[in-house]
Amino acid sequence: MLNRPRIFTLDDAPQQVLNEHGFHGQDILSVNQFSMASLEYIFDVAEEMRAMVEQQGGAELLKGRVLSCLFFEPSTRTSSSFIAAMERLGGSVIPITQGVQFSSVSKGETLHDTIRTLEQYSDVIVLRHPETGSAKIAAAAAQIPIINAGDGTGEHPTQALLDLFTIKEELGTLDGLHVAMVGDLRYGRTVHSLTQLLLNYDVRFTFVSPEILRLPLDYMNQVKDAGKNVRETYNVADVIGSADVLYVTRVQKERFTDLAQYESVKDYYRISTELMEQAKPTTVVMHPLPRVNEIDVRLDSDPRAAYFRQVKNGMYIRMAILAAVLGKA
Ligand code: ASP
Repeated sequence: MLNRPRIFTLDDAPQQVLNEHGFHGQDILSVNQFSMASLEYIFDVAEEMRAMVEQQGGAELLKGRVLSCLFFEPSTRTSSSFIAAMERLGGSVIPITQGVQFSSVSKGETLHDTIRTLEQYSDVIVLRHPETGSAKIAAAAAQIPIINAGDGTGEHPTQALLDLFTIKEELGTLDGLHVAMVGDLRYGRTVHSLTQLLLNYDVRFTFVSPEILRLPLDYMNQVKDAGKNVRETYNVADVIGSADVLYVTRVQKERFTDLAQYESVKDYYRISTELMEQAKPTTVVMHPLPRVNEIDVRLDSDPRAAYFRQVKNGMYIRMAILAAVLGKA
């Protein structure tokens, strides 16, 4: 039961409600901005978005609003889910997602000037950029909300929100879980963001990676400072029988300066159907995608494979975030 006014009435006449958690006009740069109450709030709105989409496909909540989608790195899910989110809410999009090589960035324009320009046309900007901290720089330049859609090896807050939402949807709780993060924990920004969000809950962590891809010390210290039960291992076999969540990631090839080093770890782990025979019937397998070889495609038909459900949840979460920062949720 929602304890706040509903956004959508059944006849699709959306009404504006006050945003009690203060998202209106705010940037979304890091998961650290989210309290447990604001997480629950976004999840409530995302549920409502799901119900609305299932019932009627879309609404007019963000009619007249424009989103600029500025992607300096490749993306499939993040860019298209933000576009779908905006369009399902009746808004429109300036999509600079097919490569900034076709924008004035290729003429040497600075991030600052690109942001200052796009904000003249739009109400919110979603930014993906290869440099850690770039979203903050953009936010300092802009008067309108900036949503960080991945800044280098830093953070990917909206991915972490949809990951957390998916765990809750799949397992019905966020407490008492054993979460195993598998893969490139060093460069994987989704791991960095999700790990921090999970510190709000009663979870036990195992970080599974080859030596050179271990979780950076900063994040490990946060986990330890939060008093969490945590261990590290090189071997997926150590967690397969006890993990409630297996959060698998791709080795981030584009972050390696030495390709030989990438080659040495790229096939280090693989979640196969055989390996999953040892997992619990309730274990949820997640992946932020794209996958390369780390999850066997034969696993896709296993009900425990949640990664495509995770993709869909991304759209509902991003609808909720857009509505919230634009003062309509
Ligand atoms: N799509 C995710 C990201 O942008 C994960 C990945 O690329 O491996 O961080």
